[in-house]
Amino acid sequence: MTIGLICGSGIEEFIEGEERSTMRTPYGDVYLIHGEMGGVKVTLIPRHGLKHEKPPHRVNYRGNVYALRANMIEKAIGISAVGSLNLFFRPGDLIVIDQFIDFTKGRATTFYENEAVHVDATEPYCPTIRRILHTSGKRLALRIYDHGTYICTEGPRFETKAEIRLFNLLGADVVGMTNIPEVVLAREMGLCYATLCVVTNWAAGIQERVSMEEVCVLMDQKKEDVKALLGEALPRIDEAERCPGCLEMDAKAERWIKELKAHQDTKPLHNNQETIRGKQ
Ligand SMILES: [Zn+2]
Repeated sequence: MTIGLICGSGIEEFIEGEERSTMRTPYGDVYLIHGEMGGVKVTLIPRHGLKHEKPPHRVNYRGNVYALRANMIEKAIGISAVGSLNLFFRPGDLIVIDQFIDFTKGRATTFYENEAVHVDATEPYCPTIRRILHTSGKRLALRIYDHGTYICTEGPRFETKAEIRLFNLLGADVVGMTNIPEVVLAREMGLCYATLCVVTNWAAGIQERVSMEEVCVLMDQKKEDVKALLGEALPRIDEAERCPGCLEMDAKAERWIKELKAHQDTKPLHNNQETIRGKQ
């Protein structure tokens, strides 16, 4: 089976036999990069678009997750850069987060706008993918941790010192701008989804200033580690059984995708776009 990757930038260069496509979704176009990593078929979605043109508050989260599910992808990994506000997690560390706190403000956080669907988020990330990512990282002797609470801000600005002090009191370990609603939508689509965080900097107030340049430099330095980790983890994720918790929304998602596809077939939402892709 194909495994989905939703990433910032840089990881796509490690995909072998790369083939690109654009998929029309009810939420707008999504760019997909298909190929192989670690001998496993993958479909990578550049979270911010091909040219990194969408800032965190304008990322097409619903389109991205919809595109995975509509391509029959059942397992996915999100890769995100984060700042650390817990002195235990240092820049360069990898964290397979297990909890989130949502401080976003104006994002569409559900596929189900016209009915009350309350997805369980007690354990929001897939336990199987989390375990495999962590044990794979350990095998490679990477500095990787199997827990951490991610607080998601609206962005695109970085946080103030006061906000970071507050987030610390709330129990957050790392801060970022893109994990919400990605993880929530993945749950709504019945995907096995987990997030691998790369700590790129200390949060505001712990270090003097926070800059995007520094985030990019560290992400670049960690690319090889992430590649090695994915190479180790993907074959094991590919073989793993789906988990009951992640599957809870599967049948509902299946019906929803059918409805959306039927709607899309009879009433195109956009012109000049490729038709929806079928099964891989
Ligand atoms: Zn799962």
